[in-house]
Amino acid sequence: MTIQQDYHEITANIDNFIQRPAQLEMVEAIDNCFANVSEEIKDGHNLCLIEAPTGTGKSFAYILAGTDNAKRKNKKFIISTATKTLQGQLYNKDLPQFIKHSGNRFIYGLAKGRSNYLCPYQLEGSIADAGIDMVSQAEQVQDKLQKVAEHYAKGKWDGDLDNAPLFIESKLKPLITIDKHQCLGFQCTHNQKENSNCPFYKNREFLKSCDVIVTNHSLLLADIDGGGGTVLPVKPADYYLCVDEAHNFPGYAISGFMGQFELKQSIGLVNNASKLIVNPANNSYICDDVALCDDAVSKASDLADSLDKFYQLIKLNHNVFDNGVLILNDYLNSAVTQEIKDIFVELAFSSAELCAGMSSIQDKLKNKLKNEQDYVTEANLLKLGFYLSSVESITATADYLINQDNSRYNANARWVEQKLANGNDEYNLVAGVTHVGNLLADKLWSKVYAACLTSATLAIGKRFDYVKFQLGLNLLPAVHEVKLPTGFNYPEHSQLVIPQFRYAPEYTMREPFQKELTLYLSQILNYTEAYGTLVLFFNRQQLIDTFKQLPVKLQNKILLQTEYSSNQKLIAEHKETVDCAKPSIIFGLNSFAEGVDLPAKYCMHVVVTKLPFDTHKDPQNMVREYWVKAENGNYFMDVSLPETCIKLIQAVGRLIRNEKDYGQVTICDNRVVLKQYGSILLNSLPEFSRQYNPEFIKQSFAKIKS
Ligand code: SF4
Repeated sequence: MTIQQDYHEITANIDNFIQRPAQLEMVEAIDNCFANVSEEIKDGHNLCLIEAPTGTGKSFAYILAGTDNAKRKNKKFIISTATKTLQGQLYNKDLPQFIKHSGNRFIYGLAKGRSNYLCPYQLEGSIADAGIDMVSQAEQVQDKLQKVAEHYAKGKWDGDLDNAPLFIESKLKPLITIDKHQCLGFQCTHNQKENSNCPFYKNREFLKSCDVIVTNHSLLLADIDGGGGTVLPVKPADYYLCVDEAHNFPGYAISGFMGQFELKQSIGLVNNASKLIVNPANNSYICDDVALCDDAVSKASDLADSLDKFYQLIKLNHNVFDNGVLILNDYLNSAVTQEIKDIFVELAFSSAELCAGMSSIQDKLKNKLKNEQDYVTEANLLKLGFYLSSVESITATADYLINQDNSRYNANARWVEQKLANGNDEYNLVAGVTHVGNLLADKLWSKVYAACLTSATLAIGKRFDYVKFQLGLNLLPAVHEVKLPTGFNYPEHSQLVIPQFRYAPEYTMREPFQKELTLYLSQILNYTEAYGTLVLFFNRQQLIDTFKQLPVKLQNKILLQTEYSSNQKLIAEHKETVDCAKPSIIFGLNSFAEGVDLPAKYCMHVVVTKLPFDTHKDPQNMVREYWVKAENGNYFMDVSLPETCIKLIQAVGRLIRNEKDYGQVTICDNRVVLKQYGSILLNSLPEFSRQYNPEFIKQSFAKIKS
């Protein structure tokens, strides 16, 4: 049976299913790419980049083409998403529904990081208050921990914290979860091979038998960073991959390939690690390899000295911090002396040496546990693991500190953030890559059997150049590109309004623009119909200032993102208000500009208060800008504008969520028409009507109600 026949047969089984040409086109594009893989040729012919506008039904398309090809080639199919929401939707809704309607049989599972699962060993220790010297426990904490243990013991909860039958505060999580260094693995009494009671390992074992695994970008990136097949149960060469929400993938990768640690705190941790290895009070050793322990203590002393030297130097530079940040790239900051750069090398060397020593001690302790159960060794292993993960953070950061930057493709941002901890000066040292394209090409695209990357926002106009550069797909000439047409009737269902403001939200016109914006908002938001409006800001302070300047009567209709602990809570309240036949207005920041789904009456008007240019001079942007200019590039056109364009498309994409939606987008930034680059932005947006109709929202609302 062809993939087209499959598509028609399965969709015919689904009640009220609307077959969409763009969806079938997506199925065919993925199938064409996945079915024609030549393993010897590494030119990107096995990769496809598909822009699938909202309403395409992309998850159904990639599940069909992905599972079909994976079955035929006896591979696994991995789906990676950016958000837990989409991960949950695939696992709880899309995959079970697909199985139900297609009759295809496959096993699917959910891969999450270790910190998402209850660790019964850690919980046991926390309840007994044994082996934990890092966190103090109050009585109510003990009660809660007991309840967690009771729920898990009943056997009705799988230990996934997202499915916990009781609310677990984030401050409790360190008491019931564990990181990879502290985990005892198969030496753990809760994780004996034949009879594991460990949620993480049980799920890990289950995933080996799965045909389809739903994971998230962070976990996928951690896996490929470790060489593949370390976190996920399979190597890239043995799976088909779909990266959904692919426009976010480079951002996740940049965060993943970054290190940081606090200077003063690290000095304390390294000294404590040393005392754990050889206790100076009674000269007792953590393991019986005395030479190994003495060597580790000497390395710890070297590392603590280097950290302290760096701390003192940074303290001396106290007065040259700019907004609490000191850039450590010598080509951006002449205060970065050779002495500082020498310390970077010392940090890299001594932390790597200490890591190696501590890992050897860890192996010795684990071996000891293989032969005998010993609570003191277990507790020492737990503490050693905690310190080892701290030293690893120093090593990871130091590796980025000593990199020899030489182009926009190989540059690292390095900086120190000033903090105040317990009344003392503390400094957070951060370093990481500013471009991940070549890393992704090397670690993932050249290794994976085949992959499809999709999102509603990938191209700028008709071109994929920017996203390809970010993802490293520009290094592979044969990547397939598909831009699917929208199934929505934008010209009839929506209009774009650009009010004629006198002032632009530029630095020199900030105040008059703010006055103009406030006045305009107080007019357009003063409505009484029961529909929702989403007003998007890209600066927290501007959101707060604007709100304060509005009349109190209007303020009462507004829900401020800054006042809610989660977007879900805000959205629930917004919907409840609209359902009670009242208007409701959301003042949201960046996270409301993408991924938020407010169909029909819940969002009939999206207001973009200003173009989402990233004006924040953060160290990563400064390094990027330096290298683009050093290579005679145009930072604004090469980086700033494409990024703004993607954000703007995402923001206006909150309006029309399905075929029956109507509404208006208003962009309160006159640069979109006055500046030359404005046409690039406007031409990238959906085809909203530009014929201004002042009654459009009212008329649309009447249509939705009828
Ligand atoms: S194996 Fe690791 S994660 Fe599982 S219970 Fe033991 S220590 Fe915790």
